[in-house]
Amino acid sequence: MDLPVFNSGQIVAQRPAKNQVSSDRPYAWMIEPECDSQGILQQVVTLFLTGSECPFHCTMCDLWKNTLDAPTPVGAIPEQIVFALSDLGVDPKDTCSAGVNSIKLYNSSNFFDKRAVPRQDWTEICELVKDFKTVVIENHPAFSGDAVFEFQSKLAGQLEVAMGLETIHPRVLPWLNKQMTLKQYQDAVERLVERDVQVRTFILVKPPSLNEAEGIEWAIRSMEYAFDSGVECCSMVPVRAGNGTMDQLRKEGFFEPPSITSLEQVLEAGLQMKRGRVFMDLWDHELFGGCDACRGQRLERMTKMNETQQFEQEVQCDVCR
Ligand code: SF4
Ligand SMILES: [Zn+2]
Repeated sequence: MDLPVFNSGQIVAQRPAKNQVSSDRPYAWMIEPECDSQGILQQVVTLFLTGSECPFHCTMCDLWKNTLDAPTPVGAIPEQIVFALSDLGVDPKDTCSAGVNSIKLYNSSNFFDKRAVPRQDWTEICELVKDFKTVVIENHPAFSGDAVFEFQSKLAGQLEVAMGLETIHPRVLPWLNKQMTLKQYQDAVERLVERDVQVRTFILVKPPSLNEAEGIEWAIRSMEYAFDSGVECCSMVPVRAGNGTMDQLRKEGFFEPPSITSLEQVLEAGLQMKRGRVFMDLWDHELFGGCDACRGQRLERMTKMNETQQFEQEVQCDVCR
């Protein structure tokens, strides 16, 4: 049975309702530990900014749930940054005293899409984050033109762009409806890296139609491709249901979330490459498949591997092995 193909209209039609969000507040904000590129564990501010929805409609994406239908109002993004930093106890003029040195401005879309982040707000945004050593934003290769470098020139710290590679599987990548070829991805990464912009990438673990072993294999091959292209960090994202289309595919037998042991194998393989940082996204860990008896230990192990970027001893479980 072939994986059903959906166009943007069909993907949107299958969605459940969006969450209630407001343009003057991020929809989440936190300080979390993350290993930096020197191998030192740092505290990083992550803001999930509320803004206009991404124009792409990827089959597996659920980020649209916390977005606005209209363009982001001018002034909203700086207002959200001010609010969240204050709530986290971070003085933008003295981030050191709060023990943080990097900030992620994630907007569930593309930072260089004018509908998502109005250019009129750039100067204020750069002023608000000028004390951070690294500023991470997310962006699709289609929006990676000269605007990136204009923004970079206004920024005091290091610009890092997070860009989804998703997968290099030749059948699955076009199926995702991301409207991106591997060449576009590679050209965008090369162009950014040439101009001293760091790149991290998101890679899916076990997209629909792949079995457990294929899910592991293609996640590892995609990491190799990303590192070959010049990225410094791979952030691995276990595929989850919950956006309508993925739930439908699950019902039809085309998708099952990856098991927790597959995620461990992918993370181990990524760390063994020693080509850059590799993180496993453990955000929605209750959705991972696998044994409940050792789940907690396996999560703890991956959390440590994320933080230290070192191999940790394997978990022994009498129930599942
Ligand atoms: S490009 Fe990113 S934000 Fe946009 S639909 Fe695809 S996964 Fe979601
Ligand atoms: Zn077990």
